[in-house]
Amino acid sequence: MAIQTITLITNSEVEQRLIEFYRDFAIPTKNPYAVFAAKVATCVITLYTSHKVTFQGDNAVDEASIWNGGDDQWVYTASHMGSDEVGTGDYFGPVVVAAAYITDAQIPELIALGVKDSKKLTDALVMKMAPQLIKILPHSILVLDNPKFNDLTNRGFNMNRIKAYLHNQALLNLQKKLGFTAKTIVVDQFTPKESYFRYLNEMPLVEHNIQFVTKAESLSPAVAAASVLARYTFLKRMHDLSTQIGIVLPKGAGAQVDDTGRLIFETKGAEVLKSISKFNFKNTHKILQLVSNSDLEEI
Ligand code: MG
Repeated sequence: MAIQTITLITNSEVEQRLIEFYRDFAIPTKNPYAVFAAKVATCVITLYTSHKVTFQGDNAVDEASIWNGGDDQWVYTASHMGSDEVGTGDYFGPVVVAAAYITDAQIPELIALGVKDSKKLTDALVMKMAPQLIKILPHSILVLDNPKFNDLTNRGFNMNRIKAYLHNQALLNLQKKLGFTAKTIVVDQFTPKESYFRYLNEMPLVEHNIQFVTKAESLSPAVAAASVLARYTFLKRMHDLSTQIGIVLPKGAGAQVDDTGRLIFETKGAEVLKSISKFNFKNTHKILQLVSNSDLEEI
C-alpha cells in the first residue's frame, strides 16, 4: 500500500495528551516547525507549532483515527475521491453507489453544509444537502434497479460482487469525468481487499489505487459526500416507485416490509413485487408465508 499522510488539526489539550501517549515512542526531529515526533511501527507522528499533527505510514489512518474522537473529524484532508453505497439492506428499491471528488479547499464548505455520514442525517437534510453537493462536486452515481439486481443474483452474483462492480464503475466514471487521476481514492470497506479485486478479475478495467477503510464515511469527506448523494438518489427512487404502484414502500427489511410485500403480492401479483424488490432477500420467503397463512384463515 502507498504511504499515506493524514493531517489533523489539534488544540493544546489534545497535544498534551498526544505527547503523553507517544512519549515512549518519541524520536528526534530536525524539522524547525515540529514540536514533537514519534514513531509507532511504520507510522511517524509529527506535531507542529501550527497545531497540526501528521501521521505518515502504512497504518496512518488507524493511528490518526485514535485522535479524531470517533466522531466526524475527517482524517482525509487532502484532495481525494471516495465512494459509498446505499440500499443493500433494503428489500425495496435499488442499490445505489456514488463516488465524489473533493479538493482540500472545499472542506470548509462541506463542513458548513453539514456533510457527514448519511446514516447520521435525517432524510429531510439529505434531500436539502444533496442538490448543493451535486452542483459543487464532480461525481458519478450508479443506480442498479431491481430487475437488473434480480437478474444478477439469478446468475449467481452475491451482494459483495455486485457492490464491487458498482464501486469500480463509479470510480472509473469519475476519473474519466475529472480528466486526471486522483492521487487518493477511499472506499468504505465492505469486503476484504483481496475479495474485492477477485470479484473484479474478469473486468477489462479495474481501478487499483484504492484505500479500503472501515467507517470511511466518518473519516473521509469524499466518502461522506458520496454517502449523501447515494442516499438522496435512493430516497428519490423509493418515492418514485411508491408513486408508481400507489403504495408507500418502507425502507429496511423488517416486519413492516413483509406486511407491505404481502399487500403488494395480494393486490398486484408476484411480478410487480419482483420488479421493485430484491427478490433473493429472506423477506420474500416471509411474505409468501404470510400470504399462505392468510389463505388458510379464509378457509
Ligand atoms: Mg458504506
